[in-house]
Amino acid sequence: MKIKVVKDILEANDSIARSNREAFVKMGATVFNLMSAPGAGKTTLLKTALKKLKSDYKIGVIEGDIATTLDAEQIEKIGIPVVQINTGGACHLDANMIRNAYPEFKGKKLDIIIIENVGNLVCPAEFKVGEDYKIMIHSITEGEDKPLKYPLMFKESSLLLISKIDLQPYLGVDIAKIKSDAKKLNPDIDIIEVSSKTGEGIDKFIKWIKSHLRKR
Ligand code: MG
Ligand code: ZN
Repeated sequence: MKIKVVKDILEANDSIARSNREAFVKMGATVFNLMSAPGAGKTTLLKTALKKLKSDYKIGVIEGDIATTLDAEQIEKIGIPVVQINTGGACHLDANMIRNAYPEFKGKKLDIIIIENVGNLVCPAEFKVGEDYKIMIHSITEGEDKPLKYPLMFKESSLLLISKIDLQPYLGVDIAKIKSDAKKLNPDIDIIEVSSKTGEGIDKFIKWIKSHLRKR
């Protein structure tokens, strides 16, 4: 019984996600859903990327948080239109929340919409929201066992950003194992090592974004 309820919820979600996607295609916007555990550096990396992309593209950000507008305020400061979703306790964004959020961009012709999901390694990967691509950020401070422990997010993502690699001299994490386990789960996943602190890998990330934009 419980299994059937969960299945129905996910099917209802997927149908809203499909209609969101159609709306995004019509707008001409490519949509990226950014997911990670709390503290992996989503907002910092996002800010770094936005600064490099904002002169060439019209970008909107949807910020998902359980509470507070702290991340949205940071994005707004760099001059990017941002819509805040406070989930009021829910630990992921779903398609219905996104359906209610994107009209706030009020017909702005956006090339890119970036959705920063709630920090959580589990259910954000279960809920499609109408995105073109899921991007996962995995900080090396989380250790090397996460692909095996939380496989779904690695399976669902098109790009894995391995973040905070400037800390590797202190941590000595087995980055090769993270990569090979991620590739075993998802042979198509692209992987880029990044550091918001030193700027390493950021240009590769920007290049990846540019090469995945919908042709207009
Ligand atoms: Mg954040
Ligand atoms: Zn959740």
